[in-house]
Amino acid sequence: MSQSDYSLVLPAFTIGAHAYDAVGRITKHFGKNVVIIGGKTALSKARTSLLAACQDAGLTVTDILWYGGDANYENVDTLLANPAVAKADLVFGVGGGRAIDTCKVVADKADKVFFSFPTVASNCAPSTAIAVMYNADKSFAGYYYLNQPPVHTFINMDIIADSPYTLFWAGIGDAMSKECESELASRAAEKFHTVLLGRAIAKICSEPLLDYGEKALGDFKAKKVTYELQQVVLDIIISTGLVSNCTTAPDQSYYYNSSVAHLFYNSSTVLPQVVEGHLHGEIVSFGVLVLLTYDKQFELRDKIAAFYKQTGYPTKLSDLDIRPDEIDAVIDKAPSLTEWTCVPQPLTKSDFKRAILDTDAFGKSL
Ligand SMILES: [Zn+2]
Repeated sequence: MSQSDYSLVLPAFTIGAHAYDAVGRITKHFGKNVVIIGGKTALSKARTSLLAACQDAGLTVTDILWYGGDANYENVDTLLANPAVAKADLVFGVGGGRAIDTCKVVADKADKVFFSFPTVASNCAPSTAIAVMYNADKSFAGYYYLNQPPVHTFINMDIIADSPYTLFWAGIGDAMSKECESELASRAAEKFHTVLLGRAIAKICSEPLLDYGEKALGDFKAKKVTYELQQVVLDIIISTGLVSNCTTAPDQSYYYNSSVAHLFYNSSTVLPQVVEGHLHGEIVSFGVLVLLTYDKQFELRDKIAAFYKQTGYPTKLSDLDIRPDEIDAVIDKAPSLTEWTCVPQPLTKSDFKRAILDTDAFGKSL
C-alpha cells in the first residue's frame, strides 16, 4: 500500500439551509437519471426539497425507494433487483447511518455514482468509504469496504435541526473519540503520508465540540440553525469522516481509526442493559475518559469531563448501568476485539481494568 501506486479520494460536501441548491452544479458531469433511496422518515422530510433540486438540475428521478429498514445484504439484494436502480446513473442515499450505508453498498455493487444526503448528524457514515453491515437477525455482520467515499455529501441544516435530539447528542459523544483514538492508535505508526494527513485533521475534532457543543445542543433543542450548531455538525459528519478515510487502509493493511474508547464500547456490549439502555455515542463518550486515563492525559480528561457534566454525558460506570462486579466480563471480552491492538504499547487486561476503575473513581469525585 505505502510503496505502490494508489489513489486517495477524500470526502467533499455542501452544507447549509440551502445545501440542495448545489445538487445540479455538483452532479452535472455524472449522468441524468437518479434513484433516491432512504429511510421512511428521512424521505418524508427531504422529499419536497430534494425533488425540487432534481427538477432544477434537469435530473430524471427513476423512483423513490425505501431502503428496507436495516443495513443488511437482503435489503441490498432487493434494491439491486429493482429496475429503477438499474436505470439510474446516480444513487442518492437519504437518511441516517444505516440507510446511507445500505445505499453505499448498492451503488458500489451496481457501479453507480453515489451521493449522500444525511438527515441526522449522528456519525460520519455519509462521508466514509466503509459500510457497517448487519445480519437479518440484527447481529453485526462485518464491514463492507468501498473504493472511495460518496462523491459528495449534501448537508441540509434545516433537516438536520429537525431530527431527534438524542441522536445529535450521541453523535457529539462519538465524535469526541476521533482525535484521541486516532492519535493513540497511530502514535507508533510509520510516518506514511495518508496517516499523517489523518493525524493532522484529527487535531481539529475535539476543540469545536468543547467550544461550541453546549451552545449547539441548546440551539438544536430550539431547532435554531446557528454558526455553532453548523460547526458541530461539520465536526460529526465531515471532520471525523476525513480522519476515518485517512486512517483506514482500503486494503486493510493498517487501521488507526479507533482505539481504547471503542474498545470500551465494543467490550461493554457483553452487558445487555448497557447496549439496550444507552446509545453508541453515549457509551463511547465514557470510553474517551477511559482512554485519557489509560494514557495519563489528565488535563484533557478533566476538561472533557467538565463538558460532560454540563451536557449530560456519562462520567462514571453507574451512569451506564454497569455495576463494579460486572467489569470483569467487560475486560474478558476486550482481547478478542480489533481495538485491543490499536495502541502503541501492548495492552494488558489489568491496565484496561485499572483505567476503567480509575475513571469511575474520578467520575464519582466530580
Ligand atoms: Zn463510534
